[in-house]
Amino acid sequence: MSSTRRKFLHSSLLGSLGLFAGKKSMAHPVDTLYAPTKNEPIVISTWDFGKAANAEAWTVLGKGGRALDAVEAGVKIPEADPNNQSVGYGGLPDRDGRVTLDACIMDEQYNCGSVMCLEYIMHPISVARLVMEKTPHVVLVGDGALQFALANGFQKENLLTPESEKVWKEWLKTSKYEPVINIENKLHKPAGEGNMPGGPNNHDTIGMIAMDASGNFSGACTTSGMAFKMHGRVGDSPIIGAGLYVDNEIGAATSTGVGEEVIRIVGSHLVVELMRQGLAPEAACKKAVERIISRSPAKAKTLQVGFIAINKKGEYGGYALQKGFTYAVKSGKEEKLIPAKSIY
Ligand code: ASP
Repeated sequence: MSSTRRKFLHSSLLGSLGLFAGKKSMAHPVDTLYAPTKNEPIVISTWDFGKAANAEAWTVLGKGGRALDAVEAGVKIPEADPNNQSVGYGGLPDRDGRVTLDACIMDEQYNCGSVMCLEYIMHPISVARLVMEKTPHVVLVGDGALQFALANGFQKENLLTPESEKVWKEWLKTSKYEPVINIENKLHKPAGEGNMPGGPNNHDTIGMIAMDASGNFSGACTTSGMAFKMHGRVGDSPIIGAGLYVDNEIGAATSTGVGEEVIRIVGSHLVVELMRQGLAPEAACKKAVERIISRSPAKAKTLQVGFIAINKKGEYGGYALQKGFTYAVKSGKEEKLIPAKSIY
């Protein structure tokens, strides 16, 4: 029963019992009769580096803070980590040696903001939040996004670390754009311990979704995108519905992997819609992964995509095309890293 309907029934009942004498006391007749629903906050995010990001998000969620503030704070950790070569500062550049960042954020009221192909700003997620909160728009790209960031007090910084520049220069020797998946996870090293392009981890993104103690959802997704992409290329991560989707009635989902395949099926929105039809988070993520296979059967074997999702009950799950995708969970009850199930 919806809470509105419950309230209506109770006020009718109390009214018919003659418990409300004056108009004044009828203004909010039943709110005080109900203890607010106590939701258990939970945050989940993609890959091993999601663990540190979740811990930061928990500093907000654990105190009863808003999911939106939690996800922004959480993803800023990998954004600022120079050892993480797939997000923010230290991210691997495009083929021209430029670090271009993509990020989006969405709250419990369907507000959303996004920046695409943003250079020189360490925290694109915070710029995306400002686009959401301060402009009449949803997306700002490239130079416009940079101008907006600078006008709002963000500092211009060089995001190309010597390590990432070295990797790029090495890549230039062959200049082959070949995203390699993490099949069997042979070369996989946790983020911050030397992910190398050409190895399995040349693409990763932090996607984080959370439910707060009020039962409200928010999500954030931020990345430097595919290493050595064409300049100007944008993947799924900053596209609302593809890399991230939040529907406060149902839950939230986010993705990582080869963005072109996720965009094709509007992946995160699909996962949320599958949950709306009654699927549990893991089953919804699996179906979305299967949709990728049905749309690109030959290609799907050669690339990685992973989804994670939470529903209104606080249930969560993830699924990937290939082995090797992990996601991190943190709630009052548990804190762990989960190897996602996969098709191949
Ligand atoms: N989804 C990101 C993109 O396509 C990359 C990744 O998650 O690995 O840009």
